[in-house]
Amino acid sequence: MSDERNNRFRAARVSRFTESVIREMTRLAIRHKAVNLAQGFPDFPAPDVLKEAAARAVAEDYNQYAITWGSKPLRDAIAAKYLRFYSLELDPEREITVVCGSTEGMIASLLATTNPDDEIVMFEPFYENYGPDADLCSDRRRYVSLSPPNWEFDPAELRAAFGPRTKAIILNSPHNPTGKVFHLHELEQIAALCQEFNTLCITDEIYEHILYDGAVHIPILTLPGMRERTILVNSMSKTYSVTGWRVGWVLAPPDLTASIRKVHDFLTVGAAAPLQQAGVLALSMPDEYYSSLAANYLQRRDLLLDHLTAAGLSCFRPAGAYYVMCDVASFGVSDDLVFICHLIEKVGVAAVPGSSFFASSGAGAQLVRFCFCNKCETLDQAGRLLRRMRSGDLHAAELPTS
Ligand code: GLN
Repeated sequence: MSDERNNRFRAARVSRFTESVIREMTRLAIRHKAVNLAQGFPDFPAPDVLKEAAARAVAEDYNQYAITWGSKPLRDAIAAKYLRFYSLELDPEREITVVCGSTEGMIASLLATTNPDDEIVMFEPFYENYGPDADLCSDRRRYVSLSPPNWEFDPAELRAAFGPRTKAIILNSPHNPTGKVFHLHELEQIAALCQEFNTLCITDEIYEHILYDGAVHIPILTLPGMRERTILVNSMSKTYSVTGWRVGWVLAPPDLTASIRKVHDFLTVGAAAPLQQAGVLALSMPDEYYSSLAANYLQRRDLLLDHLTAAGLSCFRPAGAYYVMCDVASFGVSDDLVFICHLIEKVGVAAVPGSSFFASSGAGAQLVRFCFCNKCETLDQAGRLLRRMRSGDLHAAELPTS
């Protein structure tokens, strides 16, 4: 677009962010026929019972709009699941909104609760969507660093990020991209600041059931004083391996739910009705479903860690979610984008450049994120390709520099 057209037709809010790097990596992976360990979506089938339930729902004619804030059976199923797992009593009529995936849940929540001069706090690195989410809603952001290897934050830095203008903190646990699972004492510090500064906590808990090595997920909503100031965003995508269904939900106190429902109604009207119906079955899956989900991901995590380590990458071991962050400094890399392009085009494996999880320029340039929501054979194939990088076929010295 010419500058003149840009000035005339491009909204300022759009200029502030770029397209998703994660999704761009998928396009590059397809173009170069690379094994896609970039965008986090399963390459294995969704559970048969869910596919059958979705097909049945279409055949039984759940084909028109559901109630805008979610079909009653699905909202009831969501309430029942939070009661079962967290002893949390929710009112499906006033505290639950079904949305088109947690992506819509997050942006609808921010649009409903923040104004341009409100500050939004987030931990860095962060899932890339939160950047544009915040940009679309507010002009001010504050970052709190999570430091490797354990991705801990400095309590003083967290406190310093809060001030009179702070409206919300975005929390994501289990955390994408690091795999950090926030501990109770960390959640308590966040909760205390939210109360002291009268702010909201908007929490993305999409990986709640994907936990390793005894890690426990605690919704911050369950901590004392947090019920009235927490907006919990979640979805079916990762727990039920249906990232393309785009069915998510937002739990919030009734007054906030009313605002979020208004935004949601005019953004999307509603999530796909037959898939909401299939969601009723998903949310009623027995305990064994969740334990085998975590056990299968544990196996994949360990397999990928072995492959990455054998290829000479230095890995941070995730306690949850399905990503491994690696430090690629030993490859002599100073630009993660160059490294990733080389990985996709020459090695045949796609991953996500670390810098896409940071706002500060230059940060994350020695980090790369691999996902492992894949069949073991896919991970093995990636492992074979990555190992060649070490054996000299594709030595670090060959990396283009720019
Ligand atoms: N959450 C996934 C990831 O981080 C998928 C992102 C997306 O494209 N919606 O890779």
